[in-house]
Amino acid sequence: MQLSKMIPEVDTHTHTILSGHAWSTLSENCRAAREKGMKGLCLTEHGPAIECGAPSYIPHSQRMLPEVVEGIRVYKGVEANILDHEDHLDIPPEYLKFCEFAIASIHTHMFPERDMAEANTATYCNILKNPYIDIIGHADDPSVPCDFEAMVQVAQAHGKLLELNNNSTTAHRPGSLPSLKRYILCCKEHRQRVCVASDAHFYTMVGSVTPLMTLLEELDFPQELIVNLTKERFDAYLKERKQRLAAITD
Ligand SMILES: [Zn+2]
Ligand SMILES: [Zn+2]
Repeated sequence: MQLSKMIPEVDTHTHTILSGHAWSTLSENCRAAREKGMKGLCLTEHGPAIECGAPSYIPHSQRMLPEVVEGIRVYKGVEANILDHEDHLDIPPEYLKFCEFAIASIHTHMFPERDMAEANTATYCNILKNPYIDIIGHADDPSVPCDFEAMVQVAQAHGKLLELNNNSTTAHRPGSLPSLKRYILCCKEHRQRVCVASDAHFYTMVGSVTPLMTLLEELDFPQELIVNLTKERFDAYLKERKQRLAAITD
């Protein structure tokens, strides 16, 4: 099937009202996912460094949630904030270890030194080496310049993923399209595994990545590199992640 007609079975980046600036509940998000025929979503609230974000212990408290909500597998995760060029995150390892999937992102409004491309690249690369982090969120953001080639190299060496964020195709992150294209082509060239993500802040956005999928189709992006296209493939990645983490706790 053509990518532009596909919806990923698992959305790897969604927010609820717990993020402070999102407008739907987990049940509403899951119901929307079910209605679209999806099978899972990652619950990835913002960490506390964002105004009114979730507390740093959120990965621990998410253990109280059922595994399946409204027929949708809920993968407990987080979107940790990268705080500085010293690679600090706002979720400490003692809580990150409870995540099933963890994103780390730079959010421009709270990262004044974002013009430093070399430092941004070094930070992204170091964060990709953090065993608890699976993926960098929206690194195509042109207001946080970085070297995609260098990131891909480190991601591949450490078995990590890179995120293609649908908001980079919309007015939410204006001016991102040229860098998103370069990012996609870099991942394609090096056969880097990616996730396609809605970054939903409202239930109607869950799984809504058609503009991104259309772009991927135009750029002839290999479907097999999209880890969350099927739940089976995403679960296989999570198995890989478990082995990675077992190796550091042994
Ligand atoms: Zn983000
Ligand atoms: Zn987000």
